[in-house]
Amino acid sequence: MPVNGLPPYNSQNIFARILRGEIPARKIYEDEFAFAFHDINPQAPTHVLVIPKGAYCSFADFSATATEAEITGFIRAVGKIARDLGLEAPGYRLLANTGEHSGQEVAHFHIHLFAGRPLGRMIPG
Ligand code: 5GP
Repeated sequence: MPVNGLPPYNSQNIFARILRGEIPARKIYEDEFAFAFHDINPQAPTHVLVIPKGAYCSFADFSATATEAEITGFIRAVGKIARDLGLEAPGYRLLANTGEHSGQEVAHFHIHLFAGRPLGRMIPG
């Protein structure tokens, strides 16, 4: 159950459907805890989405209610994906939109991984 009065997880969200194989995605990586695929509307030369396999609405939900194994497995997967893509030397940016002010569109926790060029300021304007 999500924290802080957030709405319950909706299993029809687009990433849940990708996890179930109901919608295609360009998969990069998968293990017990994480699934990674290319963003459909990339904002950088490399724009990967990494999502946990579990049903968590947001970072708030995941960080408060996921098991230690899920958190560890997921975070290690994000690092491995970046490493395997050869991004450690040039560098990359991780971003997790959470809730209304962030503009989070898909209510299944996800980390954006951006890379492939200098990424500029963290927050425009
Ligand atoms: P948010 O704004 O929730 O942090 O990011 C949602 C991301 O999901 C956006 O970057 C958007 O382009 C991506 N996205 C939305 N629908 C799909 C889809 O069906 N497939 C893929 N691969 N990415 C999607």
